[in-house]
Amino acid sequence: MEHSTTSVHPSLLTLHFENAVDGLYVLDPEADVFVKVNPAMCDLLGFTREQLVEAQRPVSAMSLVHPDDRELVRQQMNAVTNPGDRGVLRFRSLRSDGEVRHVEVRFALIQHMGRALHVGNARDVSEQVKLENKLRTESDFNRELTLAAQRSAKEANRKQMEVLEANTRVSALSEVLRAVPVLTKRLLEIEQINDVFKETALTMVNEAQFASCTVMLKNDAGELEVKYANPFRMTAKLQPGDNPLFQMVLRGIQPLAVDQQGMHVAPIRSGTTIRGLLQVGLPKNLQRFYQNYKPIQDSIKDLVMTVADFLGVVISNHENLERIKQQSRMDKLTGLFNRRVFEEQLTTEFRRALRYDRDLALMILDIDLFKKVNDTYGHQQGDRVLETVGGLLHGSFRDLDTVCRYGGEEMCAIMPETVGEAARVKAEQIRRKVSELEIALQDQPDKTMKITVSVGIASLSKATPNEQQLLRDADRALYWCKQNGRNQVKLAEAFDVKP
Ligand code: GH3
Ligand code: MG
Ligand code: MG
Repeated sequence: MEHSTTSVHPSLLTLHFENAVDGLYVLDPEADVFVKVNPAMCDLLGFTREQLVEAQRPVSAMSLVHPDDRELVRQQMNAVTNPGDRGVLRFRSLRSDGEVRHVEVRFALIQHMGRALHVGNARDVSEQVKLENKLRTESDFNRELTLAAQRSAKEANRKQMEVLEANTRVSALSEVLRAVPVLTKRLLEIEQINDVFKETALTMVNEAQFASCTVMLKNDAGELEVKYANPFRMTAKLQPGDNPLFQMVLRGIQPLAVDQQGMHVAPIRSGTTIRGLLQVGLPKNLQRFYQNYKPIQDSIKDLVMTVADFLGVVISNHENLERIKQQSRMDKLTGLFNRRVFEEQLTTEFRRALRYDRDLALMILDIDLFKKVNDTYGHQQGDRVLETVGGLLHGSFRDLDTVCRYGGEEMCAIMPETVGEAARVKAEQIRRKVSELEIALQDQPDKTMKITVSVGIASLSKATPNEQQLLRDADRALYWCKQNGRNQVKLAEAFDVKP
């Protein structure tokens, strides 16, 4: 399209220039001065036409640009080099009253009378810039808000996962912890000590979820004997030296040892002595938490030590109970069983022999003229004699036989699977051994004394209705001995066949 102003009257052009709403100008960029400005341009820049154009020294065009924007404006203006090229500038202008306005300038490069000039228009865009800034700030704010919302959603999600994890952890741990009171209560009710070890290993794995549990006790040879292992392992005896973890605990260097795999080893103590070890593998459901959670480590350690301690107490109790049981069955002076055991055992053996039609013999031994021993040598010497005879009897019978102190200086032996004659032979040996004893005197060790015994024997026959009768028969045989000169043996059968 042809651009021509030749058909337009110059006065109309002047009118247009003078009354235009936008600032219009012609600039000599090289001289940095305006050649022509319209009133709107003067208004915009806050300078008079006189100051900008007509003065002897007009205001430099670049001085109207905010110092911070000058470099940019200069660059953009220099970029327009050929006639007809156009440029757009946005910068802050400095008015003569010091006010700063945002200005947008559109210009073109022209050649006029051998000079390169800019012809352009300028517009105040302060409001637009303000709006744009506001919008930018608002959208930044919105973006910030969105990011913050996303972050907090993520954080909330993470927190929720943490809570879930913590929940899992706590419930896994409580599952383990719950099993302990159950276990300890059960252990107290178990009579056989080996069942205690078995129950411990089973409960720790099946209920407390430990991966494995082994109860080991030291034997007399210093080996560790596996009392029970769950899962079952073939190794029944271990050399403690083979395992540094075991050694550390057995020597009391560490109250509890834990290896890389989370295997826990705690000492089983009774009193101050370490009797063995409790070894447990980390509970399966706690394995992934164990490394990173100290409270879980502490709980598990505490629990393993508690169970080990409890085992120690249970072992001690069992041993004490066994000792008391044993003591309640023994006669202290002679080391033989007491009368209560004699009566129980006589009844048991009598019934058994009767039911299975087996032989049974009963022997009653009585020290001859024992009263005289006491009277002559004193009661303490009498005790010594009882002790000596007890010791002799103790080593003279089979395991199957029950040897007891019936009372005073009377001792009995219940002999299952023994016919009367065999018992008589045995009694005769004992009578002879006793008569050969040289018992040292307590207050004169270089002097000795001698004693004799009488032994009555009865054996089970079809005519024996009950154990009391057997006892009476033996007692009568003993009485017969006493009547017939003492220091002898009598079998009741032979005695009984007499009319
Ligand atoms: P016999 O040959 O007839 O059996 O005469 P004996 O003196 O042994 O008989 P008796 O039953 O009269 O005397 C038993 C004595 O044993 C009476 C009692 O003082 C004594 N005696 C009983 N138990 C003990 C004891 O534990 N220690 C001591 N030192 N003496 C006891
Ligand atoms: Mg007597
Ligand atoms: Mg006597």
